[in-house]
Amino acid sequence: MNALFDLTGRTAVVTGASTGLGMGMTLGLASAGADILLVDHVECEEVARQVRGMGRRAATLTIDLLPMASIPTVVETAIREFGKIDILVNNAGIIRRAPALEFSEKDWDDVMQLNSKTSFFLSQAAARDMMKRKYGKIINIASLLAFQGGIIVPSYSASKGAVAQVTKALANEWAPYGIRVNAIAPGYMATNNTRALREDPVRSKAILDRIPAGRWGAPEDLQGAAVFLASPASDYVTGHVLAVDGGWLAR
Ligand code: NAP
Repeated sequence: MNALFDLTGRTAVVTGASTGLGMGMTLGLASAGADILLVDHVECEEVARQVRGMGRRAATLTIDLLPMASIPTVVETAIREFGKIDILVNNAGIIRRAPALEFSEKDWDDVMQLNSKTSFFLSQAAARDMMKRKYGKIINIASLLAFQGGIIVPSYSASKGAVAQVTKALANEWAPYGIRVNAIAPGYMATNNTRALREDPVRSKAILDRIPAGRWGAPEDLQGAAVFLASPASDYVTGHVLAVDGGWLAR
């Protein structure tokens, strides 16, 4: 392992780790040497087994991240299991689709709560531990819809715009404490989150036709970006939103 990308001895917390992009990034961080607390509201044991299979330590926490009471539980579990948090990946996120005129208050609130509020307060709680060692890497998962409005997903676009801006705000404030805060903006990735789009032949073709790389992304496509932003290779990178989108935004 090149020392620039070596995560040996580092401990990471990944939310939404049971499937999709969270699973992909968990396995990427583990392959670079990190021990992982996998957090999700469904159980993550299968992914944890794969992490252990790589010779890394893994613990799981099954918890609903919508209530604010979940935040201290996540941090306390990580510290009890591993003694510290070096890397936090705020990945758990939801999307609700409806035209703006019909959009419900619940769909607004749930999406904003999990995608932006939980991410912020989990970062705050993890940073209190990271500050003790003057070292930390926080990776927020934004979206192309931090830059674009999207179609019938108003609360999702609002929440991901907030994620991108909070990434910069925290980067400014915490750089003196050795904490780097960056975001990844995934493009159109084949996960549960985009199943409805992929099952709609018109939308699916329109999306694929616009991706310069000529394919949907896969969870593994985020591994390089996640390891980079978690590792010493990115020590002078903070407040950046890195698109991993097969060229979508360049078009
Ligand atoms: P996913 O397949 O739906 O996985 C998200 C995980 O988070 C699931 O395991 C989900 O569980 C979990 N989760 C949902 N609500 C939760 C809660 N209240 N508490 C704890 N865990 C919860 O989605 P994904 O595509 O991998 O997306 C991961 C992140 O990338 C999200 O922030 C998403 O917005 C972002 N993103 C995705 C894409 C894409 O094209 N897929 C593009 C840009 C950004 P359940 O599924 O069982 O509810």
